Amino acid sequence: MTIRRVAVAGAGIVGLSTAWFLQDRGVAVTVVDRAAVAPDATEASERASWGNAGWLAPALTLPLPEPSILKYGLRAMLTPSSPVYVPPTLDPKLIRFLADFARHCTTRHQMAALEVFAQVNRVALGAYDDLADGGVAEQTRDADPFLAAFTAETDRDHLLEEFDHVRATGGEVDYEVLDAETVHSLEPLLSDKVRAGVRIRGQRFIDPPRFVASLADAVRARGGEIITGFDVSEVRDPGNGMVDVISADGSDVSVDAVVLATGARLNALAHDFGVRTLVQAGRGYSFSVVPGELPKNPVYFPVQRVACTPLHDRFRIAGMMEFRRPDAPLDPRRVRAIVDTTRPLLRDVDWAGRSEEWVGSRPCTADGLPLIGGTRSPRVFVAGGHGMWGVALGPLTGRLLAGAMTGHTDPVLRHFDPLR
Ligand SMILES: Cc1cc2nc3c(=O)[nH]c(=O)nc-3n(C[C@H](O)[C@H](O)[C@H](O)COP(=O)(O)OP(=O)(O)OC[C@H]3O[C@@H](n4cnc5c(N)ncnc54)[C@H](O)[C@@H]3O)c2cc1C
Repeated sequence: MTIRRVAVAGAGIVGLSTAWFLQDRGVAVTVVDRAAVAPDATEASERASWGNAGWLAPALTLPLPEPSILKYGLRAMLTPSSPVYVPPTLDPKLIRFLADFARHCTTRHQMAALEVFAQVNRVALGAYDDLADGGVAEQTRDADPFLAAFTAETDRDHLLEEFDHVRATGGEVDYEVLDAETVHSLEPLLSDKVRAGVRIRGQRFIDPPRFVASLADAVRARGGEIITGFDVSEVRDPGNGMVDVISADGSDVSVDAVVLATGARLNALAHDFGVRTLVQAGRGYSFSVVPGELPKNPVYFPVQRVACTPLHDRFRIAGMMEFRRPDAPLDPRRVRAIVDTTRPLLRDVDWAGRSEEWVGSRPCTADGLPLIGGTRSPRVFVAGGHGMWGVALGPLTGRLLAGAMTGHTDPVLRHFDPLR
C-alpha cells in the first residue's frame, strides 16, 4: 500500500511532529484540530503541548508507574493539595485505569519499562536536531546547568536511586551532587531553604507555546494544510482504499491514511480500530511569574513535584497530577497548592501577580508506555499516550511513525504496539 496523503488528527507536539516527518518522506499532510494552533492559556486548556514545562530531559524521561507511587499512599492521593490527586470516583474507566496502573507499579515492570525508555532516550534529542536542520525556526536550548533542588541532603536519595536504576537498565545519566553553597551560586533565585542539589548534564528545554507554533509554521511552509475548528467525531475505513475523517459539523477529509494524535482523548476515536489500552488524563497545572531576575535554566523540585522553566520572558511553574476528566474545569485549589509548596523555595517572586493559569491533560497509559503504530485498519495509525514525556518524545515519535508508515519499521516500535 502506498501512502501519499495523510490526515493527522491533533495539532499537539505529537501530531505536528508526525506531520513534519511524513512530509520529510514525501507524504502530503492535512492536520486537523478542534482548537486553535497558537491559543492563549484559556483557549489552550486541555492541550498538554501548550502549558507543559518544556523539558527535553532524557535523564528524567522515565516511566510513570513505579513502586514508590504506591508507597505514597491512598490517603495522600485523596487530598486536594497533594501533588498526585485522585478524586473519589465511581467512573468505571478511571477505576479500571487505576487498578491497571497499580498492577504496573512493581520493580519488575519498572525495570522492563526503563530498558525501553533507555533505547528511546538515547535518540530523542536527535529528532529535535532533525527539526532544526529541516528549518523549524524556534530552537531548543541547552539546560546548563539543569538543577534539582532539595531542602535536605537526604531528600535527594530517591532521585539518585532512580539514576542508579537508569544506569542499570542501559540508560545514560551524567550528574554531580552539589552542596548548598554551589547550588545557590548556580541559581541565585533559590531561597535559603534549599540546602542541597544535583546538577544534571546533557539536558535541554523549549518554550512550549512558541515551539509548537513554530513547528506548525514549518508544516505549513512545506505545503501542509492545518485546519482548526475541526472536531473529529468519526473516522471511517469503508474498505475502498481511502479513509474518511469526519468532523462534528459534517466536514469530511478523505485520505490514504489517518494518524490519531488526539492526546488524552485518544480512546474516543481509536477504540473502533481495536485500541483497548486506556489513555487517562493525568491533569497538570501551570502558571507564569516574572521574578526579579529571570533564571536562564530550569529548576526541578523533585520532592514537591514542581518543574520550573524559563520561557523567553517569564518563568513557568508547573506541577500536579490529577486523574480526572480532561474537560473538567481548572481547580484553583491545585494552583494554590503549587504556590504554597514552591513559595518557600524561591526568592523574589511576586506570586500574587502570576498569570496564564492553565490546566492540561497528560495522556497517561497504565503501563507507562506510549501507543505508536498501526491498528486493526491498515489505514488508521495511532500516536499518543506519552504521559509525562510527550514533549521530549514527540519528535522521535513522529520520526518513528512516519518511518513505519512508509516502509521502515524500527524494532523499538514493538514495545509501543497500540493493539497490545
Ligand atoms: C503540567 C505539565 C508539565 C509537563 N511537562 C513536560 C515536560 O517538561 N516534558 C515533556 O516531555 N512532557 C511534559 N508534559 C507532558 C506533555 O505535555 C504531553 O505528554 C504532550 O504534550 C502530549 O502531546 P500530544 O500531542 O499527544 O497531546 P496534546 O498536546 O494534548 O494534543 C492533542 C491535540 O488533539 C486535539 N484533539 C483532541 N480531540 C480531538 C478531536 N476529536 N478532533 C480534533 N482534534 C482533537 C486537541 O485539541 C489537541 O490540540 C507535561 C504535561 C503537563 C500537563
